[in-house]
Amino acid sequence: MALIVQKYGGTSVGDVERISNVAQKVQMSREAGNDVVVVVSAMSGETNRLIDLANQISESPDPREYDVLVSTGEQVTIALLSMALNRLGCPARSYTGSQVHILTDSSHTKARILDIDEAQVRTDLEQGNVVVVAGFQGCDEHGNITTLGRGGSDTTAVALAAALKADECQIYTDVDGVYTTDPRVVSNARRLDRITFEEMLEMASLGSKVLQIRSVEFAGKYNVPLRVLSSFEQGDGTLITYEEENMEQPVISGIAFNRDEAKLTILGVPDQPGVAYRILGPVGKANIEVDMIIQNVAADSTTDFTFTVHRNDHDKARAVLDKVAQDLGAREVKSDNTIVKISVVGVGMRSHAGVASTMFEALANENINIQMISTSEIKISVVVDEKYLELGVRTLHDVFNLEQSPDV
Ligand code: ADP
Ligand code: ASP
Ligand code: MG
Repeated sequence: MALIVQKYGGTSVGDVERISNVAQKVQMSREAGNDVVVVVSAMSGETNRLIDLANQISESPDPREYDVLVSTGEQVTIALLSMALNRLGCPARSYTGSQVHILTDSSHTKARILDIDEAQVRTDLEQGNVVVVAGFQGCDEHGNITTLGRGGSDTTAVALAAALKADECQIYTDVDGVYTTDPRVVSNARRLDRITFEEMLEMASLGSKVLQIRSVEFAGKYNVPLRVLSSFEQGDGTLITYEEENMEQPVISGIAFNRDEAKLTILGVPDQPGVAYRILGPVGKANIEVDMIIQNVAADSTTDFTFTVHRNDHDKARAVLDKVAQDLGAREVKSDNTIVKISVVGVGMRSHAGVASTMFEALANENINIQMISTSEIKISVVVDEKYLELGVRTLHDVFNLEQSPDV
């Protein structure tokens, strides 16, 4: 008998009928002889609705209360799904994150899971129940409700699978697997049968929201077999795997993009030791995460410094930077919250030269101006104006022949 953790995202539980469909899928897995733990998200749109309510009360709601509020979405779904399962004659019990002791740190709105006491879940499974757990939430050592960041139900599922040493963690969603890029942007994107943890980690961290990045980290660290599948269609989906010795790697396996970026530049800062710290120190203190950073070679005794942040943090970062510019005697601050980041990802890049020049040439042919570039061993990212997002992603998908399977 196998133990399977299944996670169903917001669209998959978007209305009562869909919840009933999920109950049937769970029942089928039970009848096939599996023990099943189900993790669910809030019904689609619900988390956004709750966040909107909080923002109507306050521009920066108290993080503890924000978590109490946004965690309620998942509680509705666990109850409805358990009722649907019970109606089918499939005994089920629902639990919130704190009820199954998903212990997290206290960083409200982006808490990390520290430990799961899986005893209750095991007891229920032994008694023949399906266990239905609310995704996206846990509680800290003081009993405060915490949430795991947007998309956090994926991480709940993988963490439970790791704690229970499940045979597989299945992430059911509204696409039938991980694609070469978001199939909603490129219609001939290709579903991948497999992708390595390393590549999935890059894709997730560069903006492919099909899996929350922490879920992929967890799965890699605890060796959890992880699969992305459709809630609505049959199929094997995409398996996230370790790189196999003899696996022929395509040079590029996918293209990720992130629309949530903003760029800030401080011009004419004195080129002295400690300047980067004096600029980024206050940004970090204001709790703003910095993504790409570029400092120019100083032409005279001054230099320019550019970095990107989440678009929601643009105004806050701009205010910090205006103040820093005054303190440093910098010439000017510029910022732009209409930029996006496009990245090509592939472990095969390690052994192939020329990816960057192919990428830059393709973008140049479309007259797409590159504003920033950053590279690592297995990815190249560029920042461009948001109006070029779709064109840029499609162009790169074409130039690297991603619509074609590498072995045909
Ligand atoms: P859920 O609510 O089930 O968690 P998400 O919206 O979080 O679903 O994730 C699924 C979505 O991820 C898809 O609808 C798709 O638009 C998007 N996506 C982005 N990049 C990719 C990719 N490379 N492959 C598949 N889906 C992707
Ligand atoms: N409901 C949460 C969100 O919308 C968590 C999740 O769906 O994974 O971000
Ligand atoms: Mg998601």
